Amino acid sequence: MSRAFLSLGSNLGERLEYLRAAVAALSNGPSVKVLGVSKVYETEPVEVQEAQPEYLNCVVEVECGVPAVELLRFCQGVEAALGRVQKGEKAPRTVDVDILLFGEEVIEDRELTVPHRGVLRAFNLRGLADLDPSVYIPGRGAVGELLAEADLSDVREYGEGV
Ligand code: ADP
Ligand code: MG
Repeated sequence: MSRAFLSLGSNLGERLEYLRAAVAALSNGPSVKVLGVSKVYETEPVEVQEAQPEYLNCVVEVECGVPAVELLRFCQGVEAALGRVQKGEKAPRTVDVDILLFGEEVIEDRELTVPHRGVLRAFNLRGLADLDPSVYIPGRGAVGELLAEADLSDVREYGEGV
């Protein structure tokens, strides 16, 4: 069994409902058990060209009985089931499900990079710290320590949780 952390984001439509539906879909997976969900954060889109709606983001802790690449497939299935149509970097999306951490594995595949390249973004650090500040990011350090040095100015706690 591996302990993994997923980053969920939505910036189209009923964003909170999409996060909730994604967490529900994740808990229905045969090889995945949801252990916890962070608070929800509202954030500006990063690295985008045109104006886009703000994101709601949260981090989900799961116990996973399959290898990381199978977890990726499962996450992609959840995205598809929730109507993500525009594939492609940075397109607005009903829901995006990324693998932030998979145990302490370091993976550099054509289709899978773990830790995810966005793992140090403030909303991911905050979400991870909600779940467990002692979580270790390979090559970087413990989430709680990284959070203490992070710029949190663009991240707001959202009024409602998942
Ligand atoms: P974004 O980078 O905004 O999440 P997409 O969700 O469209 O963009 O993902 C693009 C590609 O990123 C996917 O096809 C997937 O193969 C790849 N990818 C690489 N590493 C990861 C990861 N850790 N989690 C999810 N997708 C990943
Ligand atoms: Mg993604």
